[in-house]
Amino acid sequence: MQVFNLALFLLDAVIYFAVMTAFLHYRRQLGLGVFLAALGVMHFMETYLAAVFYIELPFGTVSPGSSVFFAGKLMMILLLYLKEDAAVVRQPIYGLFLGNLLTVGIAQILQVHEVVALPGGRAADMAFLSEMGWLMVWGTALLYVDAIGIILLYERLGRVLRSNVVLRFAISGAAILTFDQIGFYSALNILFGAPPSVFFGGWYAKLLSVVLYSLLFAVYLKIEQIPRLARSTREITDIFNDLTFRERYQALLAKSGVDGLTGLFDRGRLEADVPTLIHRCLDRGTGLSLIIVDADHFKQVNDLFGHLKGDEVLKEIALSLQAGSRPSDHLSRFGGEEFVLILPDTDHDSALTIAERLRIAICRSVIRPDGQCVTVSIGVATAPEDGHALDTLLGRADERLYRAKNDGRDNVHGRLGRLVPSGAGTA
Ligand code: GH3
Ligand code: MG
Ligand code: MG
Repeated sequence: MQVFNLALFLLDAVIYFAVMTAFLHYRRQLGLGVFLAALGVMHFMETYLAAVFYIELPFGTVSPGSSVFFAGKLMMILLLYLKEDAAVVRQPIYGLFLGNLLTVGIAQILQVHEVVALPGGRAADMAFLSEMGWLMVWGTALLYVDAIGIILLYERLGRVLRSNVVLRFAISGAAILTFDQIGFYSALNILFGAPPSVFFGGWYAKLLSVVLYSLLFAVYLKIEQIPRLARSTREITDIFNDLTFRERYQALLAKSGVDGLTGLFDRGRLEADVPTLIHRCLDRGTGLSLIIVDADHFKQVNDLFGHLKGDEVLKEIALSLQAGSRPSDHLSRFGGEEFVLILPDTDHDSALTIAERLRIAICRSVIRPDGQCVTVSIGVATAPEDGHALDTLLGRADERLYRAKNDGRDNVHGRLGRLVPSGAGTA
């Protein structure tokens, strides 16, 4: 009987893995929603089974809900991460988390309903409903930690086992499911008085599942190399060996993030890069300054000389800013005729001096067709005094820019108001 149970257990796992992997593999044709919805549906069944459905296997008492389906789901989450990236895998992790909380909340209301008696004495198991609530809350918290844990561990293992994807898959699965079994069994023991044999039975079964899933994963990698089947995805070595989410992200950034007109970084790139720069400078205790530069009466340039000439002028402003900044600075076109220059390791006073130099340089080098010089107004903010976050610094610098505009334009405003240059001949 136990051997028969074991055979069915393995069959459950093979069917689960094969079908879910097929959904994932053909996600471009089917839509990723098919895979995600299936994952969610199976999640409910597995929770139910883990509470009430146990079988005898040669090595102990086991719940297929937990050892086949829960273990399988975690491996599927990892597989999804390998196929897509962190931004995509976050969706089912949060979706399952929030969906579980919703289920538990609604279960509390359901228990208060007056229930109609059904023919044949069939009745809802209200005690189960409330117990399952707690099991779900606990399982939800564990799942959340497990899902993030298995991805992080897989990434870590990449440092030592870079090319051995299947081994990384197996080790991260086994480690996280061991951790999970300890947590899950604790809840089962407290709620349902589950004996220790359930812990060991469940643990062995989860490890068995991981071995089986890893073998199936290896088979999948082989099948995927058959060109006709691999059609929907990219090259295997591409996905599994080279491109983790971060690597893909970096590659994408290297290609984009550049403003088409001026060749400077664009606003997206500013937002992607600068928080790290700020942290680095704050950790070093050196501070960082942000300069926002806005062309004065630029609309007039367009109106008088045409949009194309306006574009030329913007390019010249960009060139002038570039010439006046250091290689370690981060210069971007923030909006139409606004530029942001990030100065790492620079305090407020030094930033004001640099801003003033840039203002003068632009005024001298960027000349309109009518011979007038193009002027700019500048606002300066500095971390940590004005804040730690990019948004806060931008906000502060923008307020000061606004004051510079109200103060007659063609000047620099900092924390103490308008900059009064100490040297002569600055205008
Ligand atoms: P202020 O001194 O108050 O900043 O006046 P302004 O005219 O510069 O300010 P405003 O923000 O009202 O106008 C900015 C103008 O910049 C409006 C828009 O036509 C122009 N602009 C924005 N992007 C581009 C661009 O890519 N090329 C050109 N030629 N003009 C642009
Ligand atoms: Mg503007
Ligand atoms: Mg302007």
